[in-house]
Amino acid sequence: KSGFATLIGRPNVGKSTLMNQLIGQKIAITSDKPQTTRNRIQTVYTEEQGQIIFLDTPGIHQAKNKLGQFMVNIAERTINEVDVILWLVEPSTFIGAGEQHIIEKLNKSKTPVILVINKIDTVKKQEILTFIDAYRDKCNFAEIVPVSALKGENKQQLIDVIFKYL
Ligand code: GDP
Ligand code: MG
Repeated sequence: KSGFATLIGRPNVGKSTLMNQLIGQKIAITSDKPQTTRNRIQTVYTEEQGQIIFLDTPGIHQAKNKLGQFMVNIAERTINEVDVILWLVEPSTFIGAGEQHIIEKLNKSKTPVILVINKIDTVKKQEILTFIDAYRDKCNFAEIVPVSALKGENKQQLIDVIFKYL
């Protein structure tokens, strides 16, 4: 099996940490630089089940100018071209205008969305459940997977879930 995935989410939510955790080591293909090129490969994860090719997107935000609009267009094309979208969120941040905007875009796309709740090592289990309840109905999520990118918690579960959609 092999296919394409993209990882979206606010700055500091843990996207780079998750990428590094998934590939098991800090290698040079992950990057924090904002990208203007389409379909840039961010990371390739390989195991017996197959390969997950992560494509970078410049992020889905509300465009404030022409360059911003250009980046948003790339991001929107990317989310329609991948096999699965991983939307990374963290329990300290509840749904605001930025999240609403992302939800609207995701609801317009046919690509399955996995809601990945990161940093579960920082909160109690009950808080995670409350957080899931706040998100659950906002989008037709294919799956909801709580993880700790830092500790590697639920890493294999997330990988198995991604493979389901490739
Ligand atoms: P990005 O901007 O989305 O790429 O976020 P980074 O991967 O750079 O992470 C931002 C900060 O959050 C860093 O200080 C990470 O160490 C921290 N972080 C990422 N994942 C976790 C996690 O699962 N648990 C905790 N406690 N911190 C995390
Ligand atoms: Mg980053």
